Amino acid sequence: MQSRAIGRAPSYEELLGTTHEYEVVIVGAGPAGMCAALYTGRSMLRTVVLERGMPGGELLNTEKLDDWIGEQSILGWELAKKFEDHARLFGAEFVTANVTTVRRLDDGTFETVTDTGETYRSPAIIVTAGGTPIKLGIPGEQEYAGKGVSYCAICDGAFFRQQTIAVVGGGDAAVEEADFLTRYAAKVYVVHRRDTFRASKILQERLFANPKIEVVWNSVAEEVLGDEQGLMKGLVIRNVETDVTSTLDATGCFVFIGFRPNTGIIDGHFAHDPMGYVVTDAMMQTSIPGLFAAGDLRSQLTRQVTTAVGDATTAAIAVEKYLKARAEGGHAVDPVGSGGYAV
Ligand code: NAP
Repeated sequence: MQSRAIGRAPSYEELLGTTHEYEVVIVGAGPAGMCAALYTGRSMLRTVVLERGMPGGELLNTEKLDDWIGEQSILGWELAKKFEDHARLFGAEFVTANVTTVRRLDDGTFETVTDTGETYRSPAIIVTAGGTPIKLGIPGEQEYAGKGVSYCAICDGAFFRQQTIAVVGGGDAAVEEADFLTRYAAKVYVVHRRDTFRASKILQERLFANPKIEVVWNSVAEEVLGDEQGLMKGLVIRNVETDVTSTLDATGCFVFIGFRPNTGIIDGHFAHDPMGYVVTDAMMQTSIPGLFAAGDLRSQLTRQVTTAVGDATTAAIAVEKYLKARAEGGHAVDPVGSGGYAV
């Protein structure tokens, strides 16, 4: 679809015929993006979802889910496909594109640019670009991701009942999740590169009081080992003081060494929390009017598929109201009530 806005001179991109106009652009096709597309589609808003890879987001890094309500167990890729098919049913278009910049123009519309120079214009945008867990970058980590290596205790902990696993990291996430993982695992090693944790004292106290946890200080993970079935069977670690290498007989390795929200595409200042996550109001609108955010890049208590689709539902319905208010010239804000909107 290529078209040109009426009432202004065409830009260079438009002259080249690479500008596409939609009522809503959604950046990212994880659970949040696909759910937002379903709802904007149902509202008959012309919607495009821009995704650099396959639709699915973090679902494609998750082997199996047992916390998606209504499905006792479902494969990550299978749920991703269901989400995509459902969103397409209501008319959303999916385009493979790597978004480099999202910019609000002086007229209040948005310009979304991809790395191939395509430009998408829209009066509202929902950014659901997610976040990326920081990886260890060691041999075997990628190979055994979903087959022992995980970045989410709530998602994958239950697959390690009565097993021995390792947690890497020494911050709040590692220390808290190690404690959580002992609900399932028989033993949890916490591998930390220094001799003190940076995690808060209360979390440390809980960890030290847990008989199932053994801390391996001054050590770094060096390699994930696998068995003939392609599953993880051990973690090679090295003591940084003695340089001695050893292997933990662990069938799981949970990596918690930080998480980066994918907010780099947003041009200009936006309100964010101290960790860089996007702050929104109750309607999922960011501090940039017309720019909505949902899913893992949003500042919030927890990051689950269920919370991502909840955010996305709110964002999509808020976008519909925002566009209506914009078309009517703007009216009063009613952030928690019947949904009035100022623009
Ligand atoms: P974090 O606080 O940045 O901690 C990252 C940990 O990973 C640190 O212990 C760090 O070691 C270690 N690390 C970093 N790179 C590493 C590498 N390449 N190899 C091995 N270890 C590495 O990250 P986080 O724990 O994910 O927490 C992020 C934020 O969320 C924090 O502000 C935290 O307070 C918050 N949070 C809070 C809670 C809670 O309050 N319940 C729970 C989870 C997260 P060093 O210590 O040596 O640098």
